[in-house]
Amino acid sequence: MVQRSFRAELVGSFSQGSATNPTVAMIEAAFAHHDLNWRYINCEVQPQDLGDAVRGARAMGWRGFNCSIPHKVSVIEHLDGLGESAAIMGAVNCAVARDGKFIGENTDGKGFLKSLREVVDPAGKQVVMFGAGGAARAIGVELALAGARSITVVNRSPSRGAPLAELLDSRTPATASLVTWDRTYAVPPEAGIIVNATSIGLGNGNQPLDIDVASLRPGMVVCDVIVDPPDTRFLRDARAQGCTVVDGLGMLVNQGVISVKYWAGIDVDPESMRKALVQVFGR
Ligand code: NDP
Repeated sequence: MVQRSFRAELVGSFSQGSATNPTVAMIEAAFAHHDLNWRYINCEVQPQDLGDAVRGARAMGWRGFNCSIPHKVSVIEHLDGLGESAAIMGAVNCAVARDGKFIGENTDGKGFLKSLREVVDPAGKQVVMFGAGGAARAIGVELALAGARSITVVNRSPSRGAPLAELLDSRTPATASLVTWDRTYAVPPEAGIIVNATSIGLGNGNQPLDIDVASLRPGMVVCDVIVDPPDTRFLRDARAQGCTVVDGLGMLVNQGVISVKYWAGIDVDPESMRKALVQVFGR
């Protein structure tokens, strides 16, 4: 029988009223699968208490924590440093204890990139990305740092789209521009990677993107961030057009894989995490 210390290593998440159960289930599944004496604790934290929560995690020797909306930006002032992409994005969803310091990272885009790389290397590719919210920002920065040649941000509101295109163009090696999404969008034939980083399709697997589906061509890699349901209308249309598709579940699973690697230094089995997620989503 394995002799265990009573002291478990602690990680967790600071959230506010958000559905973080899938993440808890996924990370705990990885700990169980690898027989790690670690716990992932989800804490409800009000914005005004975030500094105390981070100090508490530090005092209790937590190995790190995730944070979700509304804490992703405000947590930065309570940390000791930032990873490269988190600094460009100005948002952190994963803090990691390194040499007694909490360093902020962002795994949203890194999880996406890890999934994407299973089918294509983005280096030199032309990207079309729908959306300009937090997910798009994280994905755009990671794609650019991974060598994507250009990123066309297609977003409904220019007030969010323009700053993201400007950030990518000025702070990363990629070129970026904005297309305001005010009519049916036709994907240019030279695009290699197409990403839905909007919330269209969340909770409704039949909700379409306003695009000319015929402009999706074989050879394009088409990705969606939506996790629930993972088989979105966008991905079904793309598959029918002969594209290679990448779903949002892989992005979420890989965020877990990357977080545990940051905290515990081990490579966890993604399949145990994916199974836990599928169970939570009931499909
Ligand atoms: P935000 O609210 O920050 O951004 C939402 C984006 O969707 C905006 O660009 C918004 O455009 C656009 N949008 C929403 N509805 C429409 C519509 N009807 N027509 C056109 N554009 C629309 O959300 P996040 O970026 O934080 O999250 C986006 C999605 O990504 C969510 O569904 C979330 O669940 C998912 N996600 C998945 C992850 C994963 O691991 N798979 C990780 C993180 C997020 P506008 O600016 O014009 O309002």
